[in-house]
Amino acid sequence: MKNIPELFASMVFNDETMRSRLPKDIYQALKKTMKEGTHLEMELANVVANDMKEWALEKGATHFSHWFQPMTGFTAEKHDSFISPVDDGKVIMEFSGKELVRGEPDASSFPSGGLRATFEARGYTVWDITSYAFIKDGTLCIPTAFCSYGGEALDKKTPLLRSMDAIDKQARRVLKLFGNTSVRRVFPTVGPEQEYFLIDKNAYLKRADLVFTGRTLFGARPPKGQELDDHYFGSLSPRVSAFMKELEEELWKLGIMAKTKHNEVAPAQHELALIFATANIATDHNQLTMEMMKSVAYKHGLVCLLHEKPFAGLNGSGKHNNWSLSTDTGANLLEPGDTPHENAQFLLFLVAVVKAVDDYQELLRVSVENAGNDHRLGANEAPPAIVSIFLGDELTQVLESIESGSAYHNKEKYPMEIGVTALPHFPKDATDRNRTSPFAFTGNKFEFRMTGSSVSIAGPNIVLNTAVAETLSQFADLLENTKDFNASLARLIQETFRAHKRIVFNGNNYSVDWVKEAAARGLSNLKTTVDALPAFISEKSISVFARHCVFSKTEIHSRYEILTECYSKTLCIEALTMLYITKGEIIPASIAYQHELASLLESKKACGSYDSSLESFLLGQIASVSARLLEKLNALEHAVEEAKREQNMEAQAALLGSKVLGCMSELRLAADELESLIAKKHWPLPSYAELLYSVI
Ligand code: ADP
Ligand code: MG
Repeated sequence: MKNIPELFASMVFNDETMRSRLPKDIYQALKKTMKEGTHLEMELANVVANDMKEWALEKGATHFSHWFQPMTGFTAEKHDSFISPVDDGKVIMEFSGKELVRGEPDASSFPSGGLRATFEARGYTVWDITSYAFIKDGTLCIPTAFCSYGGEALDKKTPLLRSMDAIDKQARRVLKLFGNTSVRRVFPTVGPEQEYFLIDKNAYLKRADLVFTGRTLFGARPPKGQELDDHYFGSLSPRVSAFMKELEEELWKLGIMAKTKHNEVAPAQHELALIFATANIATDHNQLTMEMMKSVAYKHGLVCLLHEKPFAGLNGSGKHNNWSLSTDTGANLLEPGDTPHENAQFLLFLVAVVKAVDDYQELLRVSVENAGNDHRLGANEAPPAIVSIFLGDELTQVLESIESGSAYHNKEKYPMEIGVTALPHFPKDATDRNRTSPFAFTGNKFEFRMTGSSVSIAGPNIVLNTAVAETLSQFADLLENTKDFNASLARLIQETFRAHKRIVFNGNNYSVDWVKEAAARGLSNLKTTVDALPAFISEKSISVFARHCVFSKTEIHSRYEILTECYSKTLCIEALTMLYITKGEIIPASIAYQHELASLLESKKACGSYDSSLESFLLGQIASVSARLLEKLNALEHAVEEAKREQNMEAQAALLGSKVLGCMSELRLAADELESLIAKKHWPLPSYAELLYSVI
């Protein structure tokens, strides 16, 4: 048995390591800089860098890298060795404060949405001292923010940090009104639950669709899928278990709190949940988790699929983003309290989230957009593209009684009066759960379930933090200027709930009736990325992000461009992969089998005495489906060409999302039918059955 506490964070230059290694005055100065977000003096940086390097060398590191999160959604790193030449052709190991604090990668090939022309390729990476440095694969990684020469954010971390500052500022204004002045910092906490699939590497490599696009573009339904729900929480197969154990160890070494692991609903699907951390650390750790999942899987002869919908007809993968607000004094602001006073504060923060989610439902939808998630949202296993909030019956009744001023009849029989009546305790356990809700209150946090498995959680948290900061700022504006705080507070909670209760829905989000009801309530239902993206560049979006200094207008437009292009490129790659597989593998397989059948038919005919009805029947069917396949192939080819010719970015995305995607579905139908007709030995792609049951 390994000593886990000793192993944990052994590869992280964390607070404990800093305290034990850095000179006391340097450590204190660095902590002060971290807390107050002030400028890091170069003298200080030099000492820290040197100690960091010594520590890294002891751990076997040879390189350092600024580790950042460009708009690709992945992480980026460029490794520099510590070597520095001295006399006699020898080297010493060096690492300066300047190298620690700032990097200048030639960043021209990262998506910038026109923010940085290639001739101005300079981008800067700047140490994010709120996230610890760590060693990964022999490289000391420094978490950094990435921006352009002009200071515009080119990454996911910068706006996330800005949104955390915004919510901190506004939440503290509100707390102050409740007499709470000792809180120095309020930060969003996030606990991501990551779903993924594991399949055998050899089967994976035979599927160009998985290799190029991360999802299967073909594949007939297997006889058994997830009908029996027998995979969910099932015992772990030895191979999966070995993978999970190594993954946990690798994550623990990096100080990542891997906590819960289990098999998910679909065959070959699994989940890993981390213990929550501040939004920034949680985002870094989720990125590292995804990376580790892939690399550890590879070592075990497996491939980890993080795509939102790798297999048609089976559940896709999401990433539940558990979100709450904490103070540096250890209080969870979404935890109902024990006194009427605490409860009034809780209710105010609660309705702030309700209002924020209602006001910015479109932006939340945008924050989880990508081509993969479009297949998931609205399918039967995932929340629909309609954003709504589950509060549970009890809390809803409390708020309704406040709204109407009537008695709350569940446990206590008197009208809820803010600041007077203590709330009944809410059950935080599984008694009051709704798995179909996109945004569910689970006792002391909200769980945003629309997030797709492959994306960075920075996006949804940027929107959540900013939207809630905006609501809190409106609340603070109002309450700071009131004479009777309690009366205004009560009215504010009442009016906010009244104005925004349309977003609260405790029923079954998967039902057809809800879609109709949501429309009647005026909630938006942005089914696809193409439908959702325009909300990002709306006046409302630009003004809220600008007001809280999260994104400038230019940054929003550049991101909008990147997202639109990424969507189009993804669909284009998928369509081209389908053409590639159909022409290179499926048609030849069909021809080979037809040839075999035709030859058999010929020889039977030559003998004259055999019944050849089976061969003729099969041949007829295969020939007819193959003809349809060819027709659909041509249609797709034309549709792709038409889309490629389209110069307008939005029109191109729309064409790809409707016409091209439609042609792809039709081509798939024909190919899948063919798969069910053609002898297994001729079919070039490992079947769904092989992929899904390949890991035992
Ligand atoms: P559930 O049973 O509702 O899934 P868990 O307690 O198992 O709840 O937690 C699920 C996820 O929510 C975990 O990642 C956990 O760390 C996270 N979580 C718990 N409390 C908070 C919080 N205050 N803020 C953010 N995430 C939290
Ligand atoms: Mg889950």
